Amino acid sequence: QNNISTVLKNLGVLDLNPAFSTGSNWGASANAKTIDSLSPVDGKKIASVQLATAEDYEAVVKKAEEAFIFWRSLPAPKRGDIVRQFGDALRLHKEDLGTLVSYEMGKSLQEGFGEVQEMIDICDFAVGLSRQLYGLTMHSERPNHRMYEQWHPMGIVGIISAFNFPVAVWSWNTALAWVCGNVCIWKPSSKTPLCGVACQHIIATVLKNNDMPEGISNLLIGNAVGDLINNDKRIPLVSFTGSTRIGRVVSSAVAGRFGRSILELGGNNAIIISKDADIDMSIIGAVFGAVGTAGQRCTSTRRLIIHEDIYEDFKNKLTKAYGQLRIGDPLDQHNHVGPLIDTAAVDMYTHAIEKGKKEGAKFIVEGGVLNGNPYQSGFYVKPCVAEVENHYEIVQEETFAPILYLIKYKTLDQAISLQNGVPQGLSSAIMTLNLREAEQFLSVAGSDCGIANVNIGTSGAEIGGAFGGEKETGGGRESGSDAWKAYMRRQTNTINYSNTLPLAQGIKFDL
Ligand code: NAD
Repeated sequence: QNNISTVLKNLGVLDLNPAFSTGSNWGASANAKTIDSLSPVDGKKIASVQLATAEDYEAVVKKAEEAFIFWRSLPAPKRGDIVRQFGDALRLHKEDLGTLVSYEMGKSLQEGFGEVQEMIDICDFAVGLSRQLYGLTMHSERPNHRMYEQWHPMGIVGIISAFNFPVAVWSWNTALAWVCGNVCIWKPSSKTPLCGVACQHIIATVLKNNDMPEGISNLLIGNAVGDLINNDKRIPLVSFTGSTRIGRVVSSAVAGRFGRSILELGGNNAIIISKDADIDMSIIGAVFGAVGTAGQRCTSTRRLIIHEDIYEDFKNKLTKAYGQLRIGDPLDQHNHVGPLIDTAAVDMYTHAIEKGKKEGAKFIVEGGVLNGNPYQSGFYVKPCVAEVENHYEIVQEETFAPILYLIKYKTLDQAISLQNGVPQGLSSAIMTLNLREAEQFLSVAGSDCGIANVNIGTSGAEIGGAFGGEKETGGGRESGSDAWKAYMRRQTNTINYSNTLPLAQGIKFDL
């Protein structure tokens, strides 16, 4: 607790319990309601944060609209320079922010630091990008005409993020959106509001040091803000990261007003373990993928599809590995598995185990909620493993907890069909040293996911690639490659420098 008070103080969060911020300006209505941020690590209250009202929301959108007029005209490399300074500020705050992520969300300290490192990496990427927002030039079919395309910013980007990556997801969106010339309004998860406040405080200082106006980076706290963003025509792009259930609400509301959305929703990720796999490597990949962040990653490994010839041997080795897992305080670097986020998450875990059992799941590593010292928060659960059939209802769903399902296969075609045979399409992997198998898995007849790996598990990703998934995962892409294009509008320009007006396709129109 003492350590956390120091961390909050270092991050400048202690004196703030705002409902909104437009940069250096932090505020809340006189009658604002509050929410408490509880740490799943020990169940203790960290601090209260006020909730934004509809009036706060209006004030923030107004500021953002004004700021966009300024920001869109600032040359992109200059915007990139501000993002570079943000990356530098994050380097200075890495230890404190990583610790807050770990304490407020419940992931391991290493993963908390890793999240901040991802923020730094995406800032570096965005700085380079600020000089590379390239459009194509095309050859016109008409003489003395020039054709090209250019990319313009969209305006205000609404970012709604999930609890499990409380800081990195925002930065993936915001660093790109800013260099593209957009301003951002962020609604962090109400389960991790202090991470939001801390990040906003860091960027606000950078913006102030550069004499930038209010409204370039904005923060609004509270679930009610989500619906306001979904239905606001002044927000042309909404980037939503969260469950498929809420994603469906967001996407239909935004589409209903012809807005654009980037949807990063739930996964149901599988690793195929071939009989030609490196078994030791596969065990590590599978266990980290299934129990890391207590199974609360969108890319967590939920299913292992194992070749029948090695099934029993793999199962025994896996069971042994689970026996060595240490569950406890994620800030203690000796532990492998921390808590779930809250009581609702624990209930979902328990319900999934019960439902699985009813459907025929055979648990080879039993689950259960831990209690007593040091599990007083009530949020610590045992990672468990069950043998199942892929078609069970519970296997078709994403349960955001450390439950791993084992499925047996005979042929690679069958394994690929099982891997693809779920509604979600985020991350997938095959462990094999057989080139033919690897290539088939990556081919058009292979994995249908947005991410397909060979000899790497499903969990985690580098910022350099486009991140996202197909089907009920929503189809959005964020982070690297050309994901930036989603934050801009494309314009095709044709310029006639001849002294006639020829029409396209040779159409004649004489007066
Ligand atoms: P969630 O859907 O419960 O909440 C996500 C966000 O939506 C929160 O900020 C929440 O306050 C907000 N929200 C709630 N109601 C809303 C509404 N009506 N309109 C707009 N916003 C609303 O998700 P969660 O429990 O915070 O996160 C876990 C889920 O997120 C999992 O399904 C996980 O797979 C997914 N996720 C996906 C990715 C990805 O990149 N694909 C990354 C991280 C998490």
